[in-house]
Amino acid sequence: MEPKYIFVTGGVVSSLGKGLASACIGCLMESRGYSVAIQKLDPYLNVDPGTMSPFQHGEVFVTNDGAETDLDLGHYERFTSYRTCKDSNFTTGQIYESVINKERKGDYLGKTVQVIPHITDEIKASIRRLEDSFDIVIVEIGGTVGDIEGQPFLEAIRQMRIELGEEQTLFVHLTLVPFINTSNELKTKPTQHSVKELREIGIQPDILICRSDRPLPEELKAKIALFCNVKQQAVIAGRDLDNIYEVPLMLEEEGLGAAICARLGLSKKDVDLTKWRELQELIRNPEDTVEIAVVGKYVNYEDSYKSLNEALYHGGYPHKLKTIIRWVEAEDLEVEGADVEAVIGNADGILVPGGFGHRGIEGMICGIRHARERGIPFFGICLGMQCSVIEFARYGANLESAHSTEFNPETPYPVIFMLRDLLGVEEMGGTMRLGAYDCDLLEGSFSHKAYGFDSISERHRHRYEFNNKFTEALEDNGMRIVGRSPDGKFVEIVEVADHPWFLGCQFHPEFKSRPLDPHPLFRDFIGAAYKYKLKRES
Ligand code: GLN
Repeated sequence: MEPKYIFVTGGVVSSLGKGLASACIGCLMESRGYSVAIQKLDPYLNVDPGTMSPFQHGEVFVTNDGAETDLDLGHYERFTSYRTCKDSNFTTGQIYESVINKERKGDYLGKTVQVIPHITDEIKASIRRLEDSFDIVIVEIGGTVGDIEGQPFLEAIRQMRIELGEEQTLFVHLTLVPFINTSNELKTKPTQHSVKELREIGIQPDILICRSDRPLPEELKAKIALFCNVKQQAVIAGRDLDNIYEVPLMLEEEGLGAAICARLGLSKKDVDLTKWRELQELIRNPEDTVEIAVVGKYVNYEDSYKSLNEALYHGGYPHKLKTIIRWVEAEDLEVEGADVEAVIGNADGILVPGGFGHRGIEGMICGIRHARERGIPFFGICLGMQCSVIEFARYGANLESAHSTEFNPETPYPVIFMLRDLLGVEEMGGTMRLGAYDCDLLEGSFSHKAYGFDSISERHRHRYEFNNKFTEALEDNGMRIVGRSPDGKFVEIVEVADHPWFLGCQFHPEFKSRPLDPHPLFRDFIGAAYKYKLKRES
């Protein structure tokens, strides 16, 4: 059977939280027993979002099948059981690339190739690529209504409504209802204008989610309904909340789930949000706090480490703890005479996340040394793991000037290098090791204890790897290689045994952490950090 499509657009301003809203719609539909897929269409021209700067664009989210995608896909995975894939995200650049490739091959038989119908057909085909066996496909259109670059997407979904009919398609539009201090009033005009703009191109939204900093009174909803030509029950207030995991509950209470079901003729009525409610209780009433220092780059930009942030919060939930994240700019630890103790000394745990480029590396190594020597729980992810190997080689195994060839190609001890160069990058599929790979765990390790399995699968995104030539030198001095690829060639996890909890992994576990199913490594890291805190305070 063909799925029902829910198209999510946004108006007035950007950053209204369309990604979160789409994820929450997915959550509400799953809570009624429907299977859901979610897709994001990005209007920018980049063909490869993986090459965009995290400063500008936030985190690159990696899927199991190795796609480098928009961070909104992380929201989709955290709020639903849907697992994103290559087909879950595409850009205008990718659409044009495939149309132009077809034109080059002569597929259009000499016809004039145009935005309508060729680009819009390609967009529709990309949307429909996801339809396999899902009851509902949610399609988030990036950008803001009125942007020139978003027009072909809006035209494509307009056509889909005509082709599939009213019961198969639904338009949800996010807008802003600002509060104007000087007149002490909530204003509906921007919403009216944004809906007018949509109607001009032939799309009448069915449901409006109105973002505002406070609840919307019923009279205001009635006014919006009248001016925007929607039912009053279809005007949903999306007020600001402190905690994103409350959003599905708030939207359900506002009647979003019911409004969607009514419009799409969906008959399942029972809604089970028990687990989300329990989570809310826990988040609101933590028993204690735990503070983690994250020594990284791009630290001014929370979006650059979106999934990591969330995974750290999730890690606290099983212990009824609230995680406080303290961002530390790695370069601050590098300057002459930096007082490492003063900057990170009183954290309960230290984490070094992934990253690229030379900047801040010595500061990260300095933070890792501090954690290792003082017995502060440490978690290194990707670049963080590589730095922990460099640190251990230099200061734990006496391999002076050990380094990664990414940062010093001339180092006498290249403990991190491009293993795939040696194995043949071509066969390894491109220059990055991307997507999910299996990893075997050694019994008796922190990792094996956390996962409770002998073999796991985690997502990767890196160019460099551990150099097996140094296994003995490092193991003889107390580093343990506890996770390897099944063929034994790739080192995926290192630990320091004589330590309360010290673990570096080459993969990114944060991509698989969920609020309702916290990642075992984050769970155990936070647990160890809390133990450290109690010990220090006693
Ligand atoms: N720069 C390192 C590499 O390419 C680490 C990458 C990362 O942390 N994602 O291997």
